[in-house]
Amino acid sequence: MPESDGAATQTARISQTEAKIVPGIVDPYIREQLEKRRDEIKLLLSSIPTSEPAATTAPFVELLEEVNSAVQRMDAGTYGICDVCHDTVEKERLIADPLMRLCLDHLTSDEQRALERDLELASQVQRGLLPQSDSEFRDWRIHYQYKPAGMVSGDYFDLISPANESGDLIFLLGDVSGKGVAASLLMTHLHAMFRSLASADVELGKLLDMANRLFCQSTTAGQYATLVCGRAGRSGKIEIASAGHSPALVVSPEGVKQIGSTGLPLGLFSTSRYTVCRVRLEPGDSLLLFTDGISEANNAAGSEYGIEGLAATIGECHGWPPKQLVAACLGAVQRHSAGVRQADDQTLMAIQRFA
Ligand SMILES: [Zn+2]
Repeated sequence: MPESDGAATQTARISQTEAKIVPGIVDPYIREQLEKRRDEIKLLLSSIPTSEPAATTAPFVELLEEVNSAVQRMDAGTYGICDVCHDTVEKERLIADPLMRLCLDHLTSDEQRALERDLELASQVQRGLLPQSDSEFRDWRIHYQYKPAGMVSGDYFDLISPANESGDLIFLLGDVSGKGVAASLLMTHLHAMFRSLASADVELGKLLDMANRLFCQSTTAGQYATLVCGRAGRSGKIEIASAGHSPALVVSPEGVKQIGSTGLPLGLFSTSRYTVCRVRLEPGDSLLLFTDGISEANNAAGSEYGIEGLAATIGECHGWPPKQLVAACLGAVQRHSAGVRQADDQTLMAIQRFA
């Protein structure tokens, strides 16, 4: 790959950073990916007839050398170090492309432009997956607000209407590990997975058991998601199962009640089981779901808005339509963290029984 810097500039930078020794990345998953690629290239090369001109095989031979060199660097403890600044290359980018040799700060301007275009497209794709911000289902009214911290987000939420008239509405809200593009890819994965699982019409706890097993099989170590999955039924009946997510809050005239987690985050153990919690909402009562970008929003002094802050805000809002309830919460979070840059994606969803 051609470098944008001249050799002299690079040598100068390297001598400046020589004193700093950063350990290379040793990762069994990336190693496995490299070996898999090496075998694929070898297989491809062996299938090309020897009568073909050398120009046909040359690019694959070059690629094979690159992969071999990456494996050797991992053995030598120098893999995953940026060629320019000698700092580590972002791990999620190495997982996506194990041959990456430059950190985000040292991409060529063409590479940077390409990355920006990809991000814009990813952002459009992600927004296309979101449900309408206002919806109604039988005697339920739902509103959400979503504020990603960057172009793409790791917050996940969805509303899935039942396939037949007797079914209930399924609502989901969660947060995947990590940030940026890698997190947004996991989010789209969750979206597709729950959309297909929900059509199976199984009990809520079973649905999460299945989702967790699938998620474990299809993600790499260290990737997980916390989420609340619920079903809005008839006569104010709500079922909730939570995979390690922040509590759901129920607002009634008696105050605010928390419904805590009923299992571990998705993607940690394939044997995780999820129990279901049942509550009944009266007309005017609401259920509020949120991601930790809301509860962990810091003020200038570094203290969190907190679940208590959120509960105090909504405790005053019984009977408010979901749109006003969500706006009141977002307003309170904004006042709390005035002058502080938004560090994490923020999502709030309110579900109200209106009749
Ligand atoms: Zn660098």
